[in-house]
Amino acid sequence: MFVKYSNYIAMEEKICPKTPKCPIFQGILKGTEFTETYKRLYCEAGEEGRNRCKRYQVALRVGKCPDNILPNSSKTVEEIIVTMKEKGEI
Ligand code: SF4
Repeated sequence: MFVKYSNYIAMEEKICPKTPKCPIFQGILKGTEFTETYKRLYCEAGEEGRNRCKRYQVALRVGKCPDNILPNSSKTVEEIIVTMKEKGEI
């Protein structure tokens, strides 16, 4: 029983808490061939994956991230935030 509970906790920690509502899976990447790859590399890769995800890092800093930003955006977190400020999004 304890082992199963530990495994459950371990799985929970691997999955990004934003996954259920992340627009990546409801918007531009919904149903594409890339979705599973993004999930594996970022959303289901624990803290390491979240640390690599530009979406997660931007949301961590300012509470949200534009829907069209990909986890591996070529923009830096700072550039994304500056653009959001320029557009009056934050
Ligand atoms: S794309 Fe980033 S923020 Fe969205 S669920 Fe995956 S790791 Fe989390």
